[in-house]
Amino acid sequence: MVRVRRETVVGILVTSLPLLLAALVASLFFPGSGERLVTLFMINVIAVLGIGIYAGNSGIVSFGHVGFMAIGAYASGLLTINPIVQKTALPHLPDWLAGIGMPFLPALAIALLIVAAVAVLIGIPVARLGGSSASIATLGFLVIVHVVLVASGDFTRGSQTFFGIPRAVDLWVALPFAIAAVAIARAYRDSSAGLKLRASREDEIASTAVGVNVRLHRFVAWVVGAVLAGAAGALLAHFLGAFSPKDFYFNLTFVLLAMLILGGITTVSGAVGGTAVIMVIIELLRKLEGGVDLGAIALPTVFGLTDIGIGIAILVVMYRLRDGLFGVRELDERLSWLSRFAAEAKSAPAETPAPAAATAGTLRVDNLGKTFAGLVALEKADFEVRPGLVTGLIGPNGAGKSTLINSVSGIVPPSTGRVMIDGIDVASLPVHAVPAAGLARTFQNIRLFRNLTVLENVTVAASAFKDRVDPRERARQALAEIGLDRFSDRLAGTLSYGAQRRLEIARALALKPRYLLLDEPAAGMNSAETQELMYVLDRIRSKHRLGLLLVEHDLKLIMRLCDVVVVLNKGQQIAIGTPAEIQANPAVVEAYIGRRRSSRQTQPDPLEAGGLMPGAAGLHHPA
Ligand code: ADP
Ligand code: MG
Repeated sequence: MVRVRRETVVGILVTSLPLLLAALVASLFFPGSGERLVTLFMINVIAVLGIGIYAGNSGIVSFGHVGFMAIGAYASGLLTINPIVQKTALPHLPDWLAGIGMPFLPALAIALLIVAAVAVLIGIPVARLGGSSASIATLGFLVIVHVVLVASGDFTRGSQTFFGIPRAVDLWVALPFAIAAVAIARAYRDSSAGLKLRASREDEIASTAVGVNVRLHRFVAWVVGAVLAGAAGALLAHFLGAFSPKDFYFNLTFVLLAMLILGGITTVSGAVGGTAVIMVIIELLRKLEGGVDLGAIALPTVFGLTDIGIGIAILVVMYRLRDGLFGVRELDERLSWLSRFAAEAKSAPAETPAPAAATAGTLRVDNLGKTFAGLVALEKADFEVRPGLVTGLIGPNGAGKSTLINSVSGIVPPSTGRVMIDGIDVASLPVHAVPAAGLARTFQNIRLFRNLTVLENVTVAASAFKDRVDPRERARQALAEIGLDRFSDRLAGTLSYGAQRRLEIARALALKPRYLLLDEPAAGMNSAETQELMYVLDRIRSKHRLGLLLVEHDLKLIMRLCDVVVVLNKGQQIAIGTPAEIQANPAVVEAYIGRRRSSRQTQPDPLEAGGLMPGAAGLHHPA
């Protein structure tokens, strides 16, 4: 069951209120032209939200949604067109389509089904794409829709005006649709699906590593957004009564995208606010464009002033406010008194029950290798990570440690070998399915969802698979365990460096993994932060019986923490053993000395950092 949270309801109310007010003001004080303008505003809001559901949450700009508006307009128009007008306007219409003349609402419903069907067909390939290739594909879709409309003269009158559509839409019809669009857009944004898509927008690789099926969620948002755009098109058609294919082409696309981007592409309040601002700019500039006579000075008619004005408005806003007028958080989320009111009573994080007799078994790295275009980054890595134990992974820079972690976690498919958990070859799974097999990881270069809150970052992971615990509750537990609970509502990108590193670990923990791979978790931390982190890691390891695979440069730490140490050098696994055995291993000492001679000093030299040589400070001596 989908449970709508109180924050979402409050957000919908807050965002709908300006729509209601605009409608009331227009109908009370500006009947006629003011009402028409506000009706158009409502329809634009629906269209902009349609684009925003896909573009805002996925981060992929869509040029295609105006194509869905066109389909919605023409499909519904064909169903409602006055039969008498139709005889003259569309004499070649096939019998099954002729003389229908149905009321607006059922026509809208059928038109939306058609839009959804097209969106599903187009969405399957488009959802496989990301970034600018997806944007170009949506542009291609818009052009195709336009060409087909112009070419299908029997149905659409080609590039001529399609007329005779009953004017069934006025302000009070458009308003409930606009409010419904706000509700859908906000509910989607706040839903688990919307959160996952937003996470993929922030960092696609990290999102798949916490179980997000990016393709699926892009597809869902694409279809939902298309249906909203289709509704906007049908409403516009029945508001204007006449239109032609060029009304649903680049001009409209430009204006709608301007509204979305100016307000802030990622929020519902931004979409509504941006639509209002751009419409005001357009109205003012239209007046100027026609020439103004101020008595003493007469401004001449300036062609294209409106478009130039919109362009300048976007430039100015983007220059000052990269995330648009309304930023990356919803209006209600930024009003702290309101969000306190909206927040549901938080129960104190319950203690996580210790995992029920953790299943035996190991993570087996079996003959794993990876070649990048001829460069052998990793060859024949072969070892086990056991539950409850810490396995250290060391080696000079470029030894292949990160490549190993990436291959084990599926981010970089290995060239050879297998990664076995409970008889499953994890390396053969899609990346987003790996966490369900019991494996979580962090990244050497922090990969957080920077524009999501700390709690949202962890909630994405906590909702990777279903269980009875509310994902947000599980996320709060993971944050408490790592000591970050008091930062829950901060944007992740605003945390201190050390806290960001810890947040990555909390996010991985929320996956309830059995094996946790940590790629230099203490990199860049000072020694007090490192000590604290290692203490926390040791605690969660014993509490959850986690199998840790730890890449770390501080050899003193490795020797103290690890039960087993694996040494890589130039992609080769040159040693494996207990810390004592590793310290005494000539090949290991040689590898590190070789590294010192090569004078690549990007990291503290392990030897000088109190490392490998017997007798160095802080070492455990073999008994
Ligand atoms: P480490 O983490 O031990 O410092 P890496 O695993 O990052 O080492 O790198 C091992 C080798 O593989 C290096 O020579 C590096 O340049 C190369 N490498 C890593 N990732 C890629 C990649 N995506 N494409 C090409 N070469 C890579
Ligand atoms: Mg590395």
